[in-house]
Amino acid sequence: MAFLADSLSRVKPSATIAVTNKARELKAAGKDVIGLGAGEPDFDTPENIKEAAKRAIDEGKTKYTAVDGIPELKQAICDKFQRENGLSYQPSQVTVGTGGKQILYNALVATLNPGDEVLIPAPYWVSYPDMVLLAGGEPVAVEAGIETNFKITPEQLEAAITPKTKWFIFNSPSNPTGAGYTEAELKALCDVLMKHPHVWIMSDDMYEHLAYAPYVFFTPAQVEPGLYDRTLTCNGVSKAYAMTGWRIGYAAGPVELIKAMAKIQSQSTSNPCSVSQYAALEALTGPQDFLAERLKAFQARRDLVVGMLNEIDGMECPVPEGAFYVYPSIKGLIGKKTPGGVEIDGDETFSAELLEAEGVAVVFGSAFGAGPAFRVSYATSDALLKEACTRIQRFCASLS
Ligand code: GLU
Repeated sequence: MAFLADSLSRVKPSATIAVTNKARELKAAGKDVIGLGAGEPDFDTPENIKEAAKRAIDEGKTKYTAVDGIPELKQAICDKFQRENGLSYQPSQVTVGTGGKQILYNALVATLNPGDEVLIPAPYWVSYPDMVLLAGGEPVAVEAGIETNFKITPEQLEAAITPKTKWFIFNSPSNPTGAGYTEAELKALCDVLMKHPHVWIMSDDMYEHLAYAPYVFFTPAQVEPGLYDRTLTCNGVSKAYAMTGWRIGYAAGPVELIKAMAKIQSQSTSNPCSVSQYAALEALTGPQDFLAERLKAFQARRDLVVGMLNEIDGMECPVPEGAFYVYPSIKGLIGKKTPGGVEIDGDETFSAELLEAEGVAVVFGSAFGAGPAFRVSYATSDALLKEACTRIQRFCASLS
């Protein structure tokens, strides 16, 4: 449609959101669908956080707030970075937005000029490249295969950097693979970045609290303090505190960048929801012990799903270090046919046929820039996961 902006022709709708919506619609229509599409914890937001939000409403904290976050929350974010990551930030270095997505988008809009390149390890979360495109930049994928457990090497990073590279987006544990870089692996990437002072680092640490021992989470500015002045450390309460719908993300970095991001927010959405900010304040300052309990549950689910998927001939499912995703390869199933005669020519067809035949919704790997594979979000009950994996097994067994 000629009326629409040219920039829109370069981007796709979010595949994760599309699959989630499709599963929701099918369920509403009475279909027996198990949704493993949405990257969203099934656990409820903890009671103390919900209570804090109710209190905020009762106390009339329902008006505009400072554009990029209330001072108490900014201080709590500084304390979090110090406590959990050994990173010192002042409140003036902190920004709060409507979910992790707005934070990343603000940062890209604030910094990208036409022709600027953004390095994105693939498989990547669907929204990174499209946000870069919307902001007028050029996404450059750096592909990591199953053989390196979906982690890029320092050599690959070095080879991908050009004079036009503006950002390197780092996401560990990763959406969609769950891959987590060890301290040594991350340090090796940081060593490369130290040699290229024009490249900034956007570290999306949303899955920080979903790290399974012996893997330990690290963030770039912590591993290499020499990168502190050009790193935007991004995080949010959505995944760790089961607060996806509240929409609170945050980041810390150099003051000039933070101010530029606030400028964009002041002309677009203004402050993130006031009530959600008080809820996030309670999340970051209240009891943290439930995190360990939930982590244990997630780890058991990971093992269940990896085990059941690896029983399937033609499927290979690595054991991820973190997040709540697995990313099995379906290379061995390509070229097979469904009982109805449809050839599995790629992961998009595989996912569509799986949904049709067995009512299991997953996100196809090509949306994440690397396939043939698919993403399973295992943030759902053990019983549903078992049933879903049984259905996936049955579907794959039906292919010939
Ligand atoms: N980040 C989650 C996912 O990948 C939520 C949906 C989205 O915003 O992409 O499923």
